[in-house]
Amino acid sequence: MQRDTLVALDRDHLIHPVVNYRTHERRGVAVLESGRGAYLTDNTGKELLDAFSGLWCVNVGYGHESIVRAAEEQMRRLPYATGYFHFGSEPAIQLAAKLVEFAPPSLRKVYFTMGGSDAVDSAIRFIVHYYNAVGKPEKKHFITIERGYHGSSAQGSGLTAIPAFHRNFDVPLPTQHRIPSPYPYRNPVGSDPEAIIRASVDALKEKVQEIGPDRVAAFFCEPVQGSGGVIVPPKGWLRAMQNACRELGILFAVDEVITGFGRTGPLFACEAEDVTPDVMTVAKGLTAGYAPMGAVLMSEAIYQGIAEAGGNDLPVGHGHTYSAHPVSAAVGLEVLRLYQEGGLLANGIRQAPRFEQGLQALLDHPLVGDARSRGLLGALELVANKETKARFDPALKLADHIFDAAYRNGIIFRAFGDNVLGFAPALCYTGADFDLMFERLRRTLDEVL
Ligand code: PLP
Repeated sequence: MQRDTLVALDRDHLIHPVVNYRTHERRGVAVLESGRGAYLTDNTGKELLDAFSGLWCVNVGYGHESIVRAAEEQMRRLPYATGYFHFGSEPAIQLAAKLVEFAPPSLRKVYFTMGGSDAVDSAIRFIVHYYNAVGKPEKKHFITIERGYHGSSAQGSGLTAIPAFHRNFDVPLPTQHRIPSPYPYRNPVGSDPEAIIRASVDALKEKVQEIGPDRVAAFFCEPVQGSGGVIVPPKGWLRAMQNACRELGILFAVDEVITGFGRTGPLFACEAEDVTPDVMTVAKGLTAGYAPMGAVLMSEAIYQGIAEAGGNDLPVGHGHTYSAHPVSAAVGLEVLRLYQEGGLLANGIRQAPRFEQGLQALLDHPLVGDARSRGLLGALELVANKETKARFDPALKLADHIFDAAYRNGIIFRAFGDNVLGFAPALCYTGADFDLMFERLRRTLDEVL
């Protein structure tokens, strides 16, 4: 189809996630057509280096024939098997078992969803159900972090702490609370790691006291805050938050939708700090974007609490037609094989220092105030003044200018607000891909100066 026709049809009929609708109508859609390795081609034939792995999900890169074969074989054999009424499929069962094998040892049971938002929503429902089931119905309050992102489902969007997800949506709910972000670059307590960790622990304890310890169900967090601006807490922060939750008698829920599957180095970010959450949500890298799938993993205690209360009669009324979809599960199994036996996890770990050095080298640029990363997840924070860390005037629409210049220069990444540029290169990146990435990035920043 002609590009102009597609742009017109898109403008007239397709609602895009998380855009300003008027801006999108004006700018029009950029149609992506094909991909190979770390590169995309749009429908004008322009090649683009993808420095964001789609939406931090295509961790293995594009065009893996073995994933296509796994999906095709499963589609031919059995394209759909319901998980309802005690049915199931082999790939889904195998994938659940593998996730439990590789996830933190506290997690023993898996419920599959279609993505991250419904994984978070399912986690909320399971936690509420659990506390009702074990006779603690007053435990209904959830605590998250400023700038946290936990999807945009009806309840999960209330755990998300980004203003656009709240405005006109009647969230957060009165049972959803926040503590400050452990943001090293802009933290009132300064950048000392110990001070930042202490401030988060103290804030959580204070918040729990304020709500009442017997009324708090869980603390939810991302190991690295993604959509809030790629905020990398100090090492040891996640473990300290877990210890505080255990001391306070509340559940510790970790959202690894972005950080899972090698994004920060190990298969799960929890591994790096030997953290054993009660609940964990995953999606994105689980199927590397080749098919939709997410999951909520939970401890044996939560599962048993729910199961016991069910007795032998009423079902647990939580389900999705596409839960444990066999094609997505077959894709997930092959993607997991690529991370491990295929060497992608090892390559991601090997390449991470190059990524970090490339970001740090840009600190000499007049626009760049901060460079931060963990594994292959990173950001540059742009400032109008490096001394005062003053942000650019939103009226300048800097993010739009940078996106346009980047596109012209053949690179895609993501802007958060007008001042943070986020990067999530695929685990298949080579040294040459990184060289090209930083060359195109510097040229882009020079052009918008
Ligand atoms: N949780 C986190 C940490 C995320 O980053 C996202 C999406 O970016 C979600 C949940 C929601 O996932 P999805 O977009 O698949 O619904």
